[in-house]
Amino acid sequence: MKNTDRVWDLVDSRREDYIGLSDRVFDLPEIAYTEFKSVAEHKKMLEQEGFRITEGVAGIPTAIVGEAGDEGPVIAILGEFDALPELGQVAGIAEHQPVEAGGPGHGCGHNLLGSAALMAASAVKDYLAERGLKGRVRYYGCPAEEGGAAKTFMVRAGLFDDVDAAISWHPATFTGVNEAKSLANTRIDFTFHGRAAHAAGAPELGRSALDAIELMNVGVNYMREHMPDDARVHYAYLDAGGIAPNVVQSKATVRQLVRARNLKELRDLIGRVHKIAEGAALMTETTVESSVVSGVSNLLGNRPLEESMQRNLDRLGAPDFDETDRIFANKIRETLSEDNIHVSFRRIGAEVDPDLALCDFVAPLDRKSEGGEGSTDVGDVSWAVPTVQARVATCAVGTPFHTWQLTAQGKAPAAHKGMVQAAKIMAGTAVDLFEDTGVLNQAVDAHKATLAKDPYACPIPEEVAPPLKAMSNQ
Ligand SMILES: [Zn+2]
Repeated sequence: MKNTDRVWDLVDSRREDYIGLSDRVFDLPEIAYTEFKSVAEHKKMLEQEGFRITEGVAGIPTAIVGEAGDEGPVIAILGEFDALPELGQVAGIAEHQPVEAGGPGHGCGHNLLGSAALMAASAVKDYLAERGLKGRVRYYGCPAEEGGAAKTFMVRAGLFDDVDAAISWHPATFTGVNEAKSLANTRIDFTFHGRAAHAAGAPELGRSALDAIELMNVGVNYMREHMPDDARVHYAYLDAGGIAPNVVQSKATVRQLVRARNLKELRDLIGRVHKIAEGAALMTETTVESSVVSGVSNLLGNRPLEESMQRNLDRLGAPDFDETDRIFANKIRETLSEDNIHVSFRRIGAEVDPDLALCDFVAPLDRKSEGGEGSTDVGDVSWAVPTVQARVATCAVGTPFHTWQLTAQGKAPAAHKGMVQAAKIMAGTAVDLFEDTGVLNQAVDAHKATLAKDPYACPIPEEVAPPLKAMSNQ
């Protein structure tokens, strides 16, 4: 028996309390930077557990940090609790039924994510105290993962400067160490200024900001053929210049979301997007200004931490789903396409098993996965300190994230089982680092070696503040 077994008991003893926390956060879904009720729930739990609490960190009212222990290494456990717009859904049913029309919902499982992270930090806190170990565990309650890049701002504010390693997880359709594959991204708003005029009476006097945006998008479309394979550019009109077609639009704004495999490719691509914007302004005799809204870096892997987490995963195994869990998972699967299910398997490099409703195995560390990747603000933490994340099965194989099907499973017994298992994996990994500083030192050395080759530059300029209003207004 390894010492981590004791920390797993400390996780199990909290099971009901933290399932309660996750379910309460599920029931009050709040989107990026508006998570006031959700963070209040987390604060209550931090108080109950006896953490030293700092609220409103990095100038973000809904960001919170709780610390326990003394001296020694500092291990951060990262939690999230933000929901997504429009993904409100009645839990526990396999048909689309919003709680209220257009309301937000936990379509990415962050109710589970935050709860398991705080649960793990609490178990580690008690373990350190019981064993008299020197070391501090810190819970980072991070808002606005969905598009708000709060962790990037938290890194920029120096909140990770004295941290030795960071651990997190994400709900998933399978269980394994998370591969460090995610795209760096930046959201930039381009606002064009032209000249209003009567569109029929004096069109020659008008200079259209809307035309400029349309030409900019054409330019970006042509650029797409000549970008690195993994790069992506998406856009959304924030202001199309009004609703009157008979007025030449004097002002219009488009948000461009640029993604690339790493920070260098991202910077290069952003430079090209700026040139296209200037070209569009030149063609239309408008002017353009731009502002960065948010940005995140790609994830950096850390082999010593990944091996340490894999050892915990191999000893714990996959969550112990039962027949009732599988019956509900199969009902959800009836609403999915065959493609959804195939993609799930491709992502973990496993053979398609059409009968597998819930993942019952631990994926190996060096799997051959395929498929596209999104972005996460955990990326910036991974550039600041050695970082590792687990993926733990909480939902039916094939469930796409950011869908009502994912929300529908957010309070299911299978989700709760995955959440508790995730807490155990994170707590076990943290305890192993406190007890074997050799692994921690290797992790720090590996991180230093990576940064020596490729230094970090925050993708968000110093003058840009967290988009507290810009996000919540949308
Ligand atoms: Zn997520």
